[in-house]
Order: sequence, then C-alpha cells, then structure tokens
Amino acid sequence: MNRKYRKTIMAGNWKMNKTATETVEFANAIKPLLPKTRHCEAVICLPALNITTAQKALKGSRISVGAETVHYEASGAFTGEMTTGMLADLGVRYVIIGHSERRQYYRETDLAVNRKVRAAVDAGLTPIVCIGESLQQRALGVTMELLDYQLMVAVAGISAAEMKKVVIAYEPIWAIGTGKTATAAQAQEVCAHLRAALRKKYGARTARGVSILYGGSMNVNNADELLAEPDIDGGLIGGASLKPADFAKLIEICAQVDHG
Ligand code: PEP
Repeated sequence: MNRKYRKTIMAGNWKMNKTATETVEFANAIKPLLPKTRHCEAVICLPALNITTAQKALKGSRISVGAETVHYEASGAFTGEMTTGMLADLGVRYVIIGHSERRQYYRETDLAVNRKVRAAVDAGLTPIVCIGESLQQRALGVTMELLDYQLMVAVAGISAAEMKKVVIAYEPIWAIGTGKTATAAQAQEVCAHLRAALRKKYGARTARGVSILYGGSMNVNNADELLAEPDIDGGLIGGASLKPADFAKLIEICAQVDHG
C-alpha cells in the first residue's frame, strides 16, 4: 500500500475560535511561511461566519477554506444551520462531519452523520468524516468494533466511485485537545484497520485511494513520527492550527512525507 494512490492532507479545525479580524491577521502571518511544494493539500475548517473573509485573505495561497459542520437537509426551518448548497456556492470544498464535539454537545448521531455524508457528496463537497473511541471504550477493548460501526454507518449508501471523494479522520476522543497523542503505532493500527474495512466493503483499488487522517493533539513535535506511518495520510489539527508558524510547519512536514 503506498501513498501515490491518495492525497496527503493537513486540515485545521479552528472550532469556535478567531474573529474575522483575527482570521485576516492569521492569513497575513501564515502566507509567507508556507512551503512552495504542492505536495500535501492544506485546508482550514473554520466558523461559517468567517468563511468568506478567510477565502479573501488566503486567496492565492495554497490553503483552502472549509467548514466545520453542515446540515443534511437542502433547505427549511432549521434555525442556525446551513446547507451543503450554501457551502458549495461559496466555493467551499471540505467540510468536517461528525466531529466528536458535535456528537457530544449537539447529539449528532451516526445516522445523522450518514445523512450529512450523503448530502455533502451529492453537493460535490468532500466530507472529512470523524470517528473515534473514548478512553472507556478503549479500556473495554471494543475500539475496533466501535470504529467499524461508526465507519460503516457513516458511509452506508456511498458507492465506490463516491468514496474517492470522502476523507476519514480517526480521532480518539481522549486525545483531542488533551495534549495526549495516540502513539504512532496505536494510530497506525487503527488507520490500517479502517483501510482493511474499506477494502472489504469497496475492494482494494478504492481503499488504497482513501485518505485517512489522524487527529488528536498532533503538533510540530509528533507529526513526523505519525505521518511516517504508511496508513496515516495527514492530520486533522485543532490547537496547533491556530498558530501560523505551527500550521505552516505541519504543512511542510506533511509535504515531505514520501509519496512513494
Ligand atoms: C480536533 O479538534 O479535531 C483536534 C484534533 O484537536 P487538537 O489537535 O487540539 O487535539
């Protein structure tokens, strides 16, 4: 299995951080720091309110702007929500779906995640589908079974051709925002397992083309080791994506990963 069949991606997740003014400041600070190579796709998913501001500020740079969540309905009475069509109309390509914070604080279920993946793919967006286990679930020894379930429900009804436009992010909940990172071996074990599950469902050609990211306190000090693993194709980065120098460095590390 090697990475010439799939993209490496460094994706930031800003969560509920940065005003429009701070977004522009970040863009101005990171642009001169970005590596020139085209390897590694770079995206920052940020609050919907600041998407247009960020797009303008990052124009001409190698970083694209994505969203943190989306609704599955095409329109309607869902106060506060936004549709895949609204994102596509703005030229947004990536959208995070099923982040553990959405699951925990907004009761987003696996079935809702599946509907969102369907809606995103239908609108031509690339969903970054987050799955991950809690510490208790890991301690119970059910990590792989749980992740198989989350993954299979998320992609139910997605064809092999459509799967080429879906990105998976393995994010152990216990590692998100905690400073605790899964070891490279732990993360690789899970990412390889997920690829094997995709291989079983879609066949080897499709599975080798799916980018699987790791997320959970990835930073400039541990990214090298994590990204050296053969089934970890990039990162979903919270805290470290808020700092221009760190995120630029993470893109550089990702770009240096062997593309086979
Ligand atoms: C995340 O929010 O998806 C994440 C991985 O956060 P952090 O990098 O801060 O752990």
